[in-house]
Amino acid sequence: MATFLFHDRYLDYHFGPQHPFSPVRQEMTMDLLAALGAPLNPVAPSVATREEVRRVHGEQFVEKVEAASDGTPPPEARAFGLDTGDVPVFENMDAAARGLVGGTLHGARLIGDGDATRVLQFGGGLHHAHRARASGFCVYNDLSVAIHALREQGLRVAYVDVDVHHGDGVQHLHDDDPGVLTVSLHETGRALFPGTGHVEEIGKGAGRGFSLNVPLAPYTEPDSYLDAFEHVVPHALQHFQPDVIVAQCGADAHFNDPLADLLLTTQAYDTIFRRLLALADDHAEGRLLCTLGGGYQLDTVSRIWALLALIVLGGELPDTLPNDYRERWEARLDASLTPTLHDPERTFDVPRQSSIETQNRRTSEQALEQVASHWHYA
Ligand SMILES: [Zn+2]
Repeated sequence: MATFLFHDRYLDYHFGPQHPFSPVRQEMTMDLLAALGAPLNPVAPSVATREEVRRVHGEQFVEKVEAASDGTPPPEARAFGLDTGDVPVFENMDAAARGLVGGTLHGARLIGDGDATRVLQFGGGLHHAHRARASGFCVYNDLSVAIHALREQGLRVAYVDVDVHHGDGVQHLHDDDPGVLTVSLHETGRALFPGTGHVEEIGKGAGRGFSLNVPLAPYTEPDSYLDAFEHVVPHALQHFQPDVIVAQCGADAHFNDPLADLLLTTQAYDTIFRRLLALADDHAEGRLLCTLGGGYQLDTVSRIWALLALIVLGGELPDTLPNDYRERWEARLDASLTPTLHDPERTFDVPRQSSIETQNRRTSEQALEQVASHWHYA
């Protein structure tokens, strides 16, 4: 039994028609899930309050976001990461961002109060937002507000981030807290935004040993990605013994994604999502809060997030997508869509790049070594 969180107001988080972080991604996936007859029964969360956002974000920053919410940038907006190419200001920005925070926070409360075990928040995952600075399409850090609420209940939180970009905001907002383990697998910061997430970043103060980073080489294939995941994530969870797992399920590590260079397939995502459920069962009594995240190729991200929803909710996976759905979206996007839920079998051979596999294996070994030396066994 899983709870699906969604409200139409999530679609208000919209930087304009040319911006890649488009709510059409959710709209399209919801339409696909409806066409497939998935029993979503969405629960509609309320908007997070200003006070809830302030648990994580600085007063001046929140004031700046509020001031920008008439759609015009206030003075010094850029010092707070606003009015940039990545985070342009838009009308209603504060309320739209609080709407996403409200959903993720609602999921955390359901789990923290014992009213739900598995929750899929069908939005959010704004992992780049910092205490006093918006960044990388992210205004308020919904994940951090949710993790903070779980910590207030005394729960230990493992955060697992499979978005192709480093989960820098979440890491930095909790890197001195030994009750929060952050694990991020991403394309190396040497090649990709935000440029951080190196194996040496292991946390600060009492939190040393509880930030774990696995920076993968560009053009990493599914087998090598899954090898790194299996080398690091189960081991870290086994050691940390979380009460809850919070997962950022960005879809931008797929080979079709225009903003990054990893080569995952829908089949690889299928494996990752099932592993997250199994790891939550093994290490956190099933307690798992999933959010969305990046993913910028509509035909791909809609299929990956439909997979996520069907796997988390326990539905059957169809082979092919309904014709009426495809016709509707092919007309709207003026593009042809993949007819199947999963990627078609590749019709060409990709040469195995053993140097990348070797490098990634070494990176995952180093990542574990870096943190394990700070783990104290009672
Ligand atoms: Zn991303």
